Amino acid sequence: MSSGRHGSDLLIRNARAFAGTSAGSEISVLVRDGKIERIAPEIEAESVSGDVPRIDAGGRTVISGLVDVHVHFRDPGLAHKEGWERGSAGALHGGVTSVVEVQNNPPLSVSLEALNERIEHVRARSRVDFGCLANLLPRSLDELASMAPYTPAFKLFLGGSTGMGGLEDRPTLRMLFAKAAEAGRMVVAHCEDEALLRAGKNAHPEATALQHHLVRSAEAEVRSIEQAIELCEETGAALHVFHISTAEGVERVRRARRLGLSVSSSTAPHYLLLSCEDAGRLGNLMKVNPSIKTPRDAEGVLAGLADGTVEAIGTDHAPHPLEEKTRDYKHAPSGMPSVDLLWPLTFELVRRGLLDPDTALVSVTSRAAESLGLVGKGRLQAGFDGDLVLFDPKRTRRVVGMDLPSRSRWSAYEGMELSGFPELVVRRGEVVFRDGVTTCAAGGIPLTLMAELPGRSKDLLEDPGRPGGSGGVSAG
Ligand SMILES: [Zn+2]
Repeated sequence: MSSGRHGSDLLIRNARAFAGTSAGSEISVLVRDGKIERIAPEIEAESVSGDVPRIDAGGRTVISGLVDVHVHFRDPGLAHKEGWERGSAGALHGGVTSVVEVQNNPPLSVSLEALNERIEHVRARSRVDFGCLANLLPRSLDELASMAPYTPAFKLFLGGSTGMGGLEDRPTLRMLFAKAAEAGRMVVAHCEDEALLRAGKNAHPEATALQHHLVRSAEAEVRSIEQAIELCEETGAALHVFHISTAEGVERVRRARRLGLSVSSSTAPHYLLLSCEDAGRLGNLMKVNPSIKTPRDAEGVLAGLADGTVEAIGTDHAPHPLEEKTRDYKHAPSGMPSVDLLWPLTFELVRRGLLDPDTALVSVTSRAAESLGLVGKGRLQAGFDGDLVLFDPKRTRRVVGMDLPSRSRWSAYEGMELSGFPELVVRRGEVVFRDGVTTCAAGGIPLTLMAELPGRSKDLLEDPGRPGGSGGVSAG
């Protein structure tokens, strides 16, 4: 689909390499036709042929544009909740230049025709490059092979969430996994066990936001991950567990990887920076699925990121208007926005000493791209796309939900003092965001996917030039 990758020329001088909260060594980056051509301590403008636009970074830190592996922009279908124009503007605000989008409201991507219609719809509106996950459902089975070349993976709901019921019939699930493997794409799963979700609901009939982590329990996630791993073993499918929220769930993924299974996972900022102890303060604003668990679970997920069991941090950006979130617990929809804050929130993990700088960075850049088989994204390296973010690691700002681009206009992180707010964002050599203002209309293109199916490219994973060491390499 996106063979005609294109872009602009740009020379950025006087930037600093990423070194956590301090300033790294001086670097310049030259982008030609949208791709990084050269990175060096200093590139003299005179040494660059042609009339290449220049930017003096003024000592700001430069990193690769972020890859958010999990967003919901609800468009087409529920564009009043976000839409691609606002959603992708939010992405740029958070330093995100590529998103993988999960459609969980009709029209679902259950046929090649529906998927291609969605891709064309998004291409006309998105300011960031994008991948559209196809839905893995009994009614999409016949179309999986034809959809595979156009989607990073197939999205499966093992547990029901906003707008989607979960699947639990084992023979059906086995067939879905087997057919996904046959089509050569991994299964990306929302893992919560439907029977345990029902049990949680019945056990807490008068639940409020304070009991959300008991209604949608840790056991529900762990049991579902176990089942998904069993299905991988039985069918040979590759599995990526989205938004992992429990220490035990991470341990199950770790064990599966040790056994050589092709199992990977990602988490979200709210499972790392918040815990169920914040429910009194935040109420339904932190009602998300899976639920936000205990501080011990957050520690377990952070350990998973550190050793590479959890490869990526994606936001699961799931916007709803405040008037819907402030209904009583039972009627408030699940989900929170945060694509607008992905880099500041990730950088906060570094500032708090919860993650080392390299792990934090690769979790939203190179490792995130690789976890879903996206090519040419997420590395500050010659040959990769010229997606860049400039920020000042010393500058802080308080989060004001009303000022964020997302249509929801509220944030669970309201008032939090964060650093890492992008000041300049470049998409394939073009300046698309500067000092809080989006400077492009649309222009995003479909992400290039690994031609080789299934799962992830060994070459990519074994690249010695990859930042952050070998953590996250799957044996599968
Ligand atoms: Zn989601």
